[in-house]
Amino acid sequence: MQGAVNNPNSTSDYLLRLNGVSKVFYVNNSKGFTKTRLTAVDDVSFDIMRGETFGLVGESGCGKSTLSKLALRLIEPSAGSVLYEGNNIYKMKFNELRRLRRDMQVVFQDPFDSLNPRMTLEAIVTEPMKIHGFGSREERHNRVRELFEAVGLSFAQMKRYPHQLSGGQRQRLCIARALALSPKLVVCDEAVSALDVSIQAQILNLLMDLKDEFGLTYLFISHNLAVVKFVSDRVGVMYYGRLVELANKEELFNNVLHPYTYALLAAVPDPSPGAKPKTVTLQGSVPSLFNPPSGCIFHDRCPYARKPCETLAPVLTDKGNGHLVACHYADELKLKGYEKAGDRL
Ligand code: SF4
Repeated sequence: MQGAVNNPNSTSDYLLRLNGVSKVFYVNNSKGFTKTRLTAVDDVSFDIMRGETFGLVGESGCGKSTLSKLALRLIEPSAGSVLYEGNNIYKMKFNELRRLRRDMQVVFQDPFDSLNPRMTLEAIVTEPMKIHGFGSREERHNRVRELFEAVGLSFAQMKRYPHQLSGGQRQRLCIARALALSPKLVVCDEAVSALDVSIQAQILNLLMDLKDEFGLTYLFISHNLAVVKFVSDRVGVMYYGRLVELANKEELFNNVLHPYTYALLAAVPDPSPGAKPKTVTLQGSVPSLFNPPSGCIFHDRCPYARKPCETLAPVLTDKGNGHLVACHYADELKLKGYEKAGDRL
């Protein structure tokens, strides 16, 4: 297990700690007679410190969203624990869990799908306050006014319905709803991926402003390296349900150690005039989740794989400066040439 002891930021000031968290699903095969094991998240450990933005990046299907659901206790883990302010969220009783629901909120990718089309904008933002017994009717009304102002929505729109808003306005509304109960942690799960690029920038800036204004901590999940680089203090890279590299933003983008992160950065186009396209050729395709490779999960695609990689699974190890990497040869590979790729993002 990659325990939280491996995390150099393992101090008492964490808000959320994932400790060896795994999630296995059993999926019916085509004939429905037997079930096949699918490991969506495998032994993931990291801390999210108070006030930081922890970015989680990886390609689609790597387990990021499953991990966010585990962190929010929307699904139960197959192994491991999640501690919120020192308490295991999977052992919380009703009242503690109710408190947790106030403290942790989520902003989803598709604002339209996460809003009730039959409710007015005011009712949508008021609903969590009603459920949790927040204030009087007038106090809730005033709170909605404050939140509309904070996220850049006009209070004159409060009697409208979600379909009358643009995509960016709908995501602002989702953010207002997430903030209604004054949470400490907000999970942003691909929160800007469904928006136009110009709107993405507005929403990202808004999230950064709100973080300071409301003293928030973010778990920011995205497949987009540029977005993660913009918002994050520390970044974790996931591949095939596992954390393969974790470091603070500057360290990760300037001193990449894992060949998978290296390949992701190398794929970022260089807009400089005359720049020659550079890529790192990954062999094969992403392995089937039903049939995980032995040894290092990246070995059948890694251009640097050696014989021991086929049988020995690397452990996430601290290489200094809080830079963790799961690669047997991270010290030797000297992945140079793309170390400034982060500048292009
Ligand atoms: Fe590549 Fe081997 Fe490192 Fe895995 S352990 S990333 S296969 S060099």
